[in-house]
Amino acid sequence: MKYIEEFQNPDLAKRLLDEIHATVTRPWALMEVCGGQTHSIIRHGIDQLLPEQIELIHGPGCPVCVTPLEMIDKALEIASRPGVLFCSFGDMLRVPGSGRDLFQVRAAGGDVRVVYSPLDALKLARQNPDRQVVFFGIGFETTAPPNAMAVHQAARLGVPNFSMLVSHVRVPPAIEAIMCSPDCRVDAFLAAGHVCSVMGTGEYPELAERFRVPIVVTGFEPLDILEGVRRSVRQLEAGRHTVENAYPRAVRPEGNPAARAMLADVFEVTDRAWRGIGTIPGSGWRLSERYRAFDAEHRFSVEDVTTLEPAACRAGEVLQGLLKPHECEAFGTVCTPRTPLGATMVSSEGACAAYYLYRRLGGTPVPAAGKEANPVG
Ligand code: SF4
Repeated sequence: MKYIEEFQNPDLAKRLLDEIHATVTRPWALMEVCGGQTHSIIRHGIDQLLPEQIELIHGPGCPVCVTPLEMIDKALEIASRPGVLFCSFGDMLRVPGSGRDLFQVRAAGGDVRVVYSPLDALKLARQNPDRQVVFFGIGFETTAPPNAMAVHQAARLGVPNFSMLVSHVRVPPAIEAIMCSPDCRVDAFLAAGHVCSVMGTGEYPELAERFRVPIVVTGFEPLDILEGVRRSVRQLEAGRHTVENAYPRAVRPEGNPAARAMLADVFEVTDRAWRGIGTIPGSGWRLSERYRAFDAEHRFSVEDVTTLEPAACRAGEVLQGLLKPHECEAFGTVCTPRTPLGATMVSSEGACAAYYLYRRLGGTPVPAAGKEANPVG
């Protein structure tokens, strides 16, 4: 198969589903790590086609959702400063901080701009030498390499007015934290294919062995997800726990060596707080000593920021697979895409947004309609 449509082929999907139904003998809980997979599952109704013994648990793999409140508040503080041109991807503008969001900073006169690449932010810095241009660098192993490249280029070209507010996170420590939780119900993981296309599969065998949990590297189209489920269930039923690559068209065992070299040059591993979850040791990246001059946290001295999470938001439980979005009392009432309490309702990869967008309100889903259905539009 070469084209996207072929990975949505209903006949092939039925064949995979038949095999999954024929293999399952008891209940299993599978966690899809990535928010993109969550949206694909809910959008295509994949969870409703699976045997009722299989539960898909939504994991923490949404970069906007897991960016800690403290970092959002630091972004708000920096973006409010005179002379600052603050750049971010679009989703981040509506993520609520302790008291406001980046849109409100812009409405109050702050120069907050949406960019589509960190290199666009670097270009703005070169075009505006009298301004401080700051890029909000968030996300997993997928967005970290281009952000590392932007900092590397800023150093190489000598762009002193460019800096980055870095809040990058890594998947393997999050899997470890989930497996160590006393509430953990996960029997197998559908690992995020795009993360592995960068990092390869080398970080996973130790986790699979230590926690005796199958980890299947999985893509994002319906057949990718069904194949990930099929392989996970086959392992679970056979009592095996290995790492399998069900996304070979994008993932090689060694990943992307050039991207990994760029990460190793610019970043170093650090402990990182995850929004709603807490600090996970070794789960993030920050700029290494060589590039510290480009660190916006130091440049703008925003280390000490106090934060206030909305008490009603249960995104932390959603992100750990302990609660389905529609089980949150605020879902669809006080919390909607237009009035979000948490980042999981804002982000285009957020689980709460997926449930709202595809009308998973706890009963029979009905097709989404109208503008309100678009969580980021
Ligand atoms: S529905 Fe809203 S309040 Fe509830 S967990 Fe999701 S983002 Fe938070």
